[in-house]
Amino acid sequence: MKYLFTALLATVATAASASEDIADQYPQSELYAKPVEVIPHVYSAIGATAPPTYENSGHNNNLSFIVTEAGVIVVNGGASVRLAAALHDEIKAVTDQPVVLVINENGQGHAMLGNAYWRDLGVDVLAHEDAVAEVNENGDFILQGMQRYNRDKAEGTRVEPANLTFQDEYDASMGGVTVKVLHLGPAHDPGDAQVWLPDWSMLIAGDIAFHERMLPIFEGICTSCWLDTWETKLEPLAPTYVIPGHGHPTNLAQVRRYTRDYLLDLRGKIGAHIEEGGDLASAYYVDQSQWSHLDTFEELATKNAGRVFEEMEWE
Ligand SMILES: [Zn+2]
Repeated sequence: MKYLFTALLATVATAASASEDIADQYPQSELYAKPVEVIPHVYSAIGATAPPTYENSGHNNNLSFIVTEAGVIVVNGGASVRLAAALHDEIKAVTDQPVVLVINENGQGHAMLGNAYWRDLGVDVLAHEDAVAEVNENGDFILQGMQRYNRDKAEGTRVEPANLTFQDEYDASMGGVTVKVLHLGPAHDPGDAQVWLPDWSMLIAGDIAFHERMLPIFEGICTSCWLDTWETKLEPLAPTYVIPGHGHPTNLAQVRRYTRDYLLDLRGKIGAHIEEGGDLASAYYVDQSQWSHLDTFEELATKNAGRVFEEMEWE
């Protein structure tokens, strides 16, 4: 009986593992969770789906790496140099191959603040040109935000923009593995990058694709453009596997549901609200209850509604 109860508890804990209430899953490391091998040669350390905190060390996005016979490609610098070093320790535990390229999924802190660790080792860092522009403009501000929550864990981190940039596509193929770094089009962030591994039908999608946590709509983001990029550029790739920017590895159907379908639903509700002559103040409260199980719903749902209202007012 006691055994059964313990087993039940364990099941409950697993089912809730994406929740922000769950404590650090890998206390002996600065990483929130130990990297898992998602498919052969592709690993990902799945971050907390909560906002960045001292407890999760800012590891609230996915830090992935691809092992080839000519070196390792890392996706995301991480929120600090200490986090980058912790990821490097994990890479060294699974392969003798050196890290030869780091890719930033966008210009946000958790994508690029660990770049300095890799640049100091002489490793190239690649980002979309708009992400680099964002880092050049707001890097110090982003660094200060990280220092506030990460305190002593921020020690040694400085702003180091990517030294390589691309516009539409960058060929990072190596060791017999086709690696395409893509900017599919406007979506979540101006400098979004996606890493496409066609040989294995794996898309390391970054923040163009969400599922376990609610997607954030930032000021000035064009959600109709995001939907257009989704339909015309992402769907044709038809990936079997998807590692989103946040949350567990999944498939296309799942991220379609919580990204495209969520955007369509919210735009539909806000559109109807505008039609009825509704104003911004009441737009915040359109019914989003069908998405309330998503992590960060509390933080983001009303903000997202306001942003979509401001966008659709002008359509
Ligand atoms: Zn993100």
